[in-house]
Amino acid sequence: MKNSVITFPLPANEPVKTYLVGSPERAALEKELERQRNMVVDIPIVIGGKEIRTGEIGQVVCPHDHQHVLATYHKVTEKEVKMAIESAMEARKQWMNTDWTTRAAIVLKMAELLATKYRYILNAATMLGQSKNIYQAEIDSACETIDFFRYNVHYASKIYSMQPKNGSGNLNHTEYRPLEGFVLAVTPFNFTSIASNLCMTPVLMGDVMVWKPSTTALLSNYHLMQLYKEAGLPEGVINFLPGSGALIGRVCMQSKHFAGIHFTGSTATFKSLWKEACSNLDRYISYPRLVGETGGKDFIFVHPTADEKAVATAAFCGAFEYQGQKCSAASRMYIPKSLWPAVLKNMKAMAAEVKMGDVRDPFNYINAVIDETSFDKIASYINYAKESKDAKIVLGGRCDKTVGYFVEPTIIETSDPHFKSMEEEIFGPVITVYPYDDDKMEETVTLCDETSPYGLTGSVFAQDRLAAERIADSLCYAAGNFYINDKPTGAVVGMQPFGGARASGTNDKAGGEFNLIRWTVPRVIKETLVSPTDYRYSYLK
Ligand code: NAD
Repeated sequence: MKNSVITFPLPANEPVKTYLVGSPERAALEKELERQRNMVVDIPIVIGGKEIRTGEIGQVVCPHDHQHVLATYHKVTEKEVKMAIESAMEARKQWMNTDWTTRAAIVLKMAELLATKYRYILNAATMLGQSKNIYQAEIDSACETIDFFRYNVHYASKIYSMQPKNGSGNLNHTEYRPLEGFVLAVTPFNFTSIASNLCMTPVLMGDVMVWKPSTTALLSNYHLMQLYKEAGLPEGVINFLPGSGALIGRVCMQSKHFAGIHFTGSTATFKSLWKEACSNLDRYISYPRLVGETGGKDFIFVHPTADEKAVATAAFCGAFEYQGQKCSAASRMYIPKSLWPAVLKNMKAMAAEVKMGDVRDPFNYINAVIDETSFDKIASYINYAKESKDAKIVLGGRCDKTVGYFVEPTIIETSDPHFKSMEEEIFGPVITVYPYDDDKMEETVTLCDETSPYGLTGSVFAQDRLAAERIADSLCYAAGNFYINDKPTGAVVGMQPFGGARASGTNDKAGGEFNLIRWTVPRVIKETLVSPTDYRYSYLK
């Protein structure tokens, strides 16, 4: 019997563990890293809870040691994609009618399991498979994933309690139905938490999923599937399909049951999926929900009153943490000429201190970029800058893919505010800096606003608080997440719901109720307590 009103108050954020030498978490993580490094996981397709092996095999390697195989995986064919759709539609019958607090209990159990038993499994898999250092893995695959689980339950409770008022002689309420069909989740390599959240947000609202994980994040993503199973998620609610995105996208979007896509990745991929949905529109039962967070060309705008050490730290961490492979990574900076030499000197001093290499050495602040395609793309931008008369490399610039895909933290200085690397997303540890004449601040703000098609994150540095306000106003549409005197990365669930507009996405704000509501189709029900029996208006009687 379910007749209790259960409340889910605003949760606390999961504390970030320190991993100090001698701490129990450090010992547990090191042990798990060794365990996972010394095995090769066989990753199946999972449909309706059943493991399927097609025998068409791919490999998952360590980006920082690309000859080391961590896992093999089985690729889907069209047949398995169709099976996954059927399985999701079958699971939907039960899942959509499961009381939402039971769904919430399963999600909250995921959070508890991840905070304890699965913490080091997920962190080690993210470190080895996606080349993150301890801290970057802890804030992603442990803390942010847990925060998404817990906060989403709180936000769902807010949505379900949003109800209309009753009228005289009638009762009204809103049912938040899940979408009429299945949702396709297409997830990126760079955050385990995003991979989890793109599936679990619709699932919490009663939807069922076909999940296309990123091939380069398969190890951690497969462990997520095991976590979901252990928490009690019924079979078929999430169907896990490693393989070609183009194939999975095409088959899913040709199904009349396709009800939405929850995407994070590049702008080009999302646009192609959007076009595919449009070309199939007549097949669908409803207009599909297209929710996507995509690329960025995130900026730091420095006012002449800024603190040079604070700017240097923000630019260094914002551009180079996780090798610049955050959608929010600082990748262009506008700085007064009077400040640039001191800021550059500070950034060079930081670069001289940091080491680059394997994730198992905790002193390696910088690890590898995700794969060879990415490495080659980043290297081509660096080489382009080396050969250009409008730019010079003032820090780093060396790339080496002999053992792993290593790119040094790199600063390109340019005299051209429209230089290629000021406009295009590189997705690597490269920031391009445009030093401007101190008396040309206003024009440079306009340049910053109009230079790139994206609108994801940005920050302003100024000790003159009124100047910061004016710049923030001028850059009103340049970023969906804007920071004052801070780096443009590091959004925290519950504090800075995340997403951008323009070419950066639909801005439905992961980690907030705006996103959850996209996975529902509300139905409003009016019940008249005593039905009228006379058609006439009072004055006609
Ligand atoms: P990507 O677009 O290459 O891949 C994303 C996913 O799409 C992967 O699972 C991939 O296999 C799949 N895919 C690729 N081509 C496809 C196709 N034709 N049809 C269907 N699926 C396809 O992106 P990525 O390299 O994994 O991630 C990096 C990008 O993600 C960057 O552009 C970054 O800015 C963006 N990103 C954005 C956010 C955000 O919140 N805005 C967050 C993280 C990453």
